[in-house]
Amino acid sequence: MGKADLHTHTNASDGVLTPEELILKIKSKGLKTIAITDHDTIKGYQQAVDIAEKENICLIPGVEITALWGDKEVHILAYYFDPENEPFQQLLLRQKRARILRMKAIVEELKKQGIDIDMDEVRAESGPGNVGRPHAASVLISKGYVASVAEAFIRYLSTEKLEDIKTEYATITEVIEITRAAGGVLSLAHPGPIYSQNEIDELLNFGIDGIECIHPSHNFNVQQSFKRLAKSRNLLVTGGSDYHGKGKSDYEPHLGIVTIGDAHVQSIKRLAQRRKN
Ligand code: AMP
Ligand code: FE
Ligand code: FE
Ligand code: ZN
Repeated sequence: MGKADLHTHTNASDGVLTPEELILKIKSKGLKTIAITDHDTIKGYQQAVDIAEKENICLIPGVEITALWGDKEVHILAYYFDPENEPFQQLLLRQKRARILRMKAIVEELKKQGIDIDMDEVRAESGPGNVGRPHAASVLISKGYVASVAEAFIRYLSTEKLEDIKTEYATITEVIEITRAAGGVLSLAHPGPIYSQNEIDELLNFGIDGIECIHPSHNFNVQQSFKRLAKSRNLLVTGGSDYHGKGKSDYEPHLGIVTIGDAHVQSIKRLAQRRKN
């Protein structure tokens, strides 16, 4: 049995650690089960499969998908999908391209504001992994425009500052349909600080199976109220640390602390098994 962390990032997206390093790190924290949920890619998960087996860690297929809900971006966690499913792989490819196009637009917008930045510099930060705003933040820090990732988001990279940039992410309906058809189970990521009660109801009605009740951005009361909501709607409870590694997010200290019990993992797994039958 033991504790699980169902929300982590590697350098396949905007995390710092390699998938191998992440598996060793979560083992050192005493965790038994992990989902690597990189942004719109399962490459980190795939890369970690062998070492997880060797280290006797239960590695669940996972990904954090950015979906469009009107002009808003919503993060949806998916688990236990078939990683070989063709339409699902196509969805992730499309998301990867959408990320590159969006980053090119962000770089152009920053240039207009007089910032000396180009796409090659951002790609040097992301490497072959999926590009995201934290990579642009790293460039802004190393060039002395801002002192921290938080400042980069406040001054340049927040959703509000970038609201005129149109993105080509899949819609929430597409994400849910394709992921379910690939046998996956979906959870609304870190809803706490982001949505109103009405918005949460509307989002869950799209056919999301669970709520990420346990997340570093949720205090105890928020956690409890999402757990009550999950229970009343007969939805799954998911949770994790949203670990990105040192210097990439405020959630760095939460690895090994913000966890979820094995009973919840088993419920997620049971729903995925029913969906595949
Ligand atoms: P993107 O994938 O390009 O949409 O960027 C979203 C990622 O940026 C999130 O997963 C976080 O890792 C990070 N992020 C978002 N907002 C902030 C913030 N205010 N401060 C630091 N990191 C943030
Ligand atoms: Fe992230
Ligand atoms: Fe997220
Ligand atoms: Zn995340």
